[in-house]
Amino acid sequence: MAFETSFAKAAHNAINQLVSNPLPIKPATFSRMVDRLVSGISIPFEGEPLKGLQVMGPMESRCLDFNNLIVLSCNEGVFPRKSVSSSFIPAELRVGFGLPSYDHQDEMWAYYFYRMIARAKEVWLLYDNRTEGLKKGEESRFIKQLRYHLGADITDWTEHIDAKLLAETADKTEEDKVEADRGNDDEVVKSAEDLAAIKELVLSASSLETYVACPMKFYFSKILGLEAPAEVSEYLDGSSLGTIFHSTMEALYTSDDAMKPGGVISKPTVPHEITLGYLKDWLNRKEEIRQKVKSLICEELKVPEVTGRNLVMADVICQYVVNTLNADVAYLEEKQASCFRILSLEHYFCMDFLDVKISGLIDRVDQVEGGPVRVVDYKTGSDNPDCLGLTEEKVDLPFTDYRNKAAIQFFLYDEAALHASSQKGGELFPSSREQLVNTMYVPFRLSGKSVPVDYDIRLSFADAMKKKLQDIIADLQDPAKPFVRTEDENTCQFCDFKSICGR
Ligand code: SF4
Repeated sequence: MAFETSFAKAAHNAINQLVSNPLPIKPATFSRMVDRLVSGISIPFEGEPLKGLQVMGPMESRCLDFNNLIVLSCNEGVFPRKSVSSSFIPAELRVGFGLPSYDHQDEMWAYYFYRMIARAKEVWLLYDNRTEGLKKGEESRFIKQLRYHLGADITDWTEHIDAKLLAETADKTEEDKVEADRGNDDEVVKSAEDLAAIKELVLSASSLETYVACPMKFYFSKILGLEAPAEVSEYLDGSSLGTIFHSTMEALYTSDDAMKPGGVISKPTVPHEITLGYLKDWLNRKEEIRQKVKSLICEELKVPEVTGRNLVMADVICQYVVNTLNADVAYLEEKQASCFRILSLEHYFCMDFLDVKISGLIDRVDQVEGGPVRVVDYKTGSDNPDCLGLTEEKVDLPFTDYRNKAAIQFFLYDEAALHASSQKGGELFPSSREQLVNTMYVPFRLSGKSVPVDYDIRLSFADAMKKKLQDIIADLQDPAKPFVRTEDENTCQFCDFKSICGR
């Protein structure tokens, strides 16, 4: 009885947590959230060792024999537990030096399992065969081994609940009925509030990509404003690495002073010149670049010094900066120019475009005397500029295709640059698309004297892209078009909302 009371208390507390933070979500989503909260709860058990039901973990079962055994959660990945090591020592070295490896862990779990069932008269192995999202509902390898390798006498029982019957008999509250009217689990019908929220949105290239990739994800993030909890980490992740690289490049092309550790990046007077001599000088001052990078890492992570893995990350970022400097030297040499003019750095824009507001940040805009204006984008992710083709035929590629992601971004940046040219103080920006080229710097792919390729967005492409964005925005604003889930389950793989979406 004490067990049940403890369970009931824990479940009650979990539900209270949700009820005290009311969210406009559907009952199915609510039940998934409860499920997630409850699954993280642990309850201490107490019992009489020699009588009745004993509840214990596999480790406690060592050296004990049982008549009847029930093993819960006998799913692959749960029992045995999926081994994830946070060690920096590669598996090969572990084996070479006789350190514990994944194989050891697997062996240990196999020992627990076979030791546990060795003298039991009856064994029940329970697993959940529901497949949901990335949860495969697969039976444990131990069941397979018993069945196929050892030829054990196994009887299969399947229990199921008639969900339809449950749904029909469940009492629906008025709120449930309103929610049900808004759509089924696979879609959310746009309410008046949703449409009002859409009108107020400031979109970006990435939010448009999100909408095209999965409207439901857009609904969670932009309409409901949900976001993954911020993780406190003492190590740099991919996005912080990008931020620090961008800040270092901004400081480098602002002034010598901004490159001092702790130096403030004030908006430079534009245009200002970056000469070949300046670039080559900084290529000989790698240690100063390193110190700057380290100071930015300390600021980002709020730590007093850079240690451990972050030292490696600092070296990686330094190398990215050096590669970019080399690429700029190569660019000037190719153009036989002694300098380029910086027209803007980390330029924030927010413009009216096709009945919505679009904002973004352009990494760098520069120009070699007499040449076109380059709209430069730094990419520290896994992007590959070789496959970028900005021709009108490419507009219809799926938006999940990398080429189109870059294309939307470039198209909107160019629109912003053209828009800026018509604003007060925007004389530096060109007023026609023919005077613009787009350049993508992928620092980890730049080597030696490689010159980043300039992509010339042709008018025909721009027109086709504008039409495409018009269709997407009309779709987003259309009250008759619900927010639906993507059909491409690959999109769900790294989605922050998969635990509440039910995919
Ligand atoms: S889990 Fe998949 S379907 Fe659900 S919101 Fe994320 S991307 Fe969309």
